[in-house]
Amino acid sequence: MPSSRNIPQLPTNLDLAAMPKQLHSLPALLLVLILSVSTTIKPTNAQERQTAAEIYGRAAITELWEPEPKLIQPGSAQTAPSDATVLFDGSSLAAWESVDGDEVQWLNEDGVLIVEPGSGLIKTKENFGSVQLHVEWRTPAVVAGDSQDRGNSGIFLMEQYELQVLDSIDNPTYVNGQAGSIYKQHIPLVNASLGPGQWQSYDIVFMAPLFGTDGRLVRPATFTVFQNGILIQNNVTVQGPTEFIGKPNYLNHSEMPLALQDHGSPVAYRNIWLRKL
Ligand code: MG
Repeated sequence: MPSSRNIPQLPTNLDLAAMPKQLHSLPALLLVLILSVSTTIKPTNAQERQTAAEIYGRAAITELWEPEPKLIQPGSAQTAPSDATVLFDGSSLAAWESVDGDEVQWLNEDGVLIVEPGSGLIKTKENFGSVQLHVEWRTPAVVAGDSQDRGNSGIFLMEQYELQVLDSIDNPTYVNGQAGSIYKQHIPLVNASLGPGQWQSYDIVFMAPLFGTDGRLVRPATFTVFQNGILIQNNVTVQGPTEFIGKPNYLNHSEMPLALQDHGSPVAYRNIWLRKL
């Protein structure tokens, strides 16, 4: 839009007392007003002499009209957007397999996927790179254990980079291992956890690491994470694959499955979908 300095301003210095009495009638006042305005909008410099077409023509130089973003259906709290890859909507575990490639041992009970302790992690059959990922999870309502042994699971992007799932209400543990941490690498900005037995959500933007043709790291992975709508990881840089002991080191890899961790607790999952980036 043109700036306000290009828009004529009405005069503010009309002095009725100084006018002849015959000009105090309404028609006369309007005449004075029109004459005053016409005087005010006379161009006084080159910029003010620009026509509206010239102004909007110059403004159009910085307008982009393409590429036009694709129209999608955003979905709701219960449904995935129209362009998502749905990994679990309660109806099927067809997108998943067990760690050794066999059928998933976890329960699909009333549309809810529940970790079967001792059966091992599950992973998607499809490989993924950079994604927007939505996951809902719930730690057990019956509180058992403490620290890392209470409602522990995890979401492993590319099977290697863990966003921690844990009951983090009244459950002290190392803070780079609590819910919302990038395990052993990044503490969440706040603890946005809900209590045990309550459904929670993660909305994740994960950018996969890039490796050169020589296998060396060109760009590390990054995470941005919202927990229950709250920003808890703001574009943090991943130092390498999640390690329980020691420092992480990147190893060259291409796209890999998304995995959910079995850490011995019957954590539940639902509404899992992603959009490839
Ligand atoms: Mg875990």
